[in-house]
Amino acid sequence: MNYFLVFQNKSYNEERKGGFLWAPQRNHLGQTFHHWTDMRNIKKGDIIFSSYGGQMLSVLVAKEDCIEHEKPVDLDGLDLWEKDGFMVNAEYIDLSVPIVYKDYMNSILALQGEKYAPFNKVGRGNTGYVFRVSTELANFLFEIIEQRNGYSIDIFKSDETSDKQIIEKIEEDVGNYSVVLDKTDQDTIIKARIGQSLFKKALLNLESKCKICGVNDTRFLIASHIKPWSTSNNEERLDVNNGLLLCPNHDSLFDRGFISFEDDGYILVSSILDEKIRIFMNINENIRIDLSKDQREFMKWHREEKFKN
Ligand SMILES: [Zn+2]
Repeated sequence: MNYFLVFQNKSYNEERKGGFLWAPQRNHLGQTFHHWTDMRNIKKGDIIFSSYGGQMLSVLVAKEDCIEHEKPVDLDGLDLWEKDGFMVNAEYIDLSVPIVYKDYMNSILALQGEKYAPFNKVGRGNTGYVFRVSTELANFLFEIIEQRNGYSIDIFKSDETSDKQIIEKIEEDVGNYSVVLDKTDQDTIIKARIGQSLFKKALLNLESKCKICGVNDTRFLIASHIKPWSTSNNEERLDVNNGLLLCPNHDSLFDRGFISFEDDGYILVSSILDEKIRIFMNINENIRIDLSKDQREFMKWHREEKFKN
């Protein structure tokens, strides 16, 4: 299954009413663009996230493969493009709570692919019609839709991280302990797993090693929340600025409030830790890390609420 994002600004109402997507094959100068011809890659069952005025109002499911089709009469009024075009018939699923893309832009930028991605470096929509969406970004958008709308859209979730597989994995993990998970436990763990793995992927696009000591083997790196998952709201949980990539030792110290950081990035070490343990855990008062403006906001919370002075 593939995912796309379509900027329907001029034609959303007409296309939604008609239940289709349409793009011209070329403009009046005979030029063609990937953001039109990529329509040909949309196949039956693919998911297309809509954007209209910066918001996702609908999610579309392609009802059939893309076909060559003349400009539908519904679009005649717009008088913008040549006649020959590509068309995808699609089911429009309207969201009760629209998603404002820019509210999640940091994470979206970290998760979107390199090629034909929908947004540019500063988070503005690229000029054009249809763009590609990575599986990671699609899963992230599904997660947001679910959080904001309160209903599950599991049927669209990519096969790679299906809930069923995750439950099987959890049951395998806990099998040795004969633990029976009820539905609530399962929901919680699924959310945490999907969230954590997306969160880690997003962070790994920005950082590649422990922020403190430089351990760079991704198998050992932990995407640590600065403001913990349990006290964060849904947006904060998936905001990459609320993350620090840390090795297990440093994650453990940070997570439990034995270390924190000043606004200028200098480390704060709890007086509870004696000299010996500081050496063993590889920390000293000269450590300083880079913090973005948004990370500093979360770090302020950590310093005030979590740090054991
Ligand atoms: Zn480390």
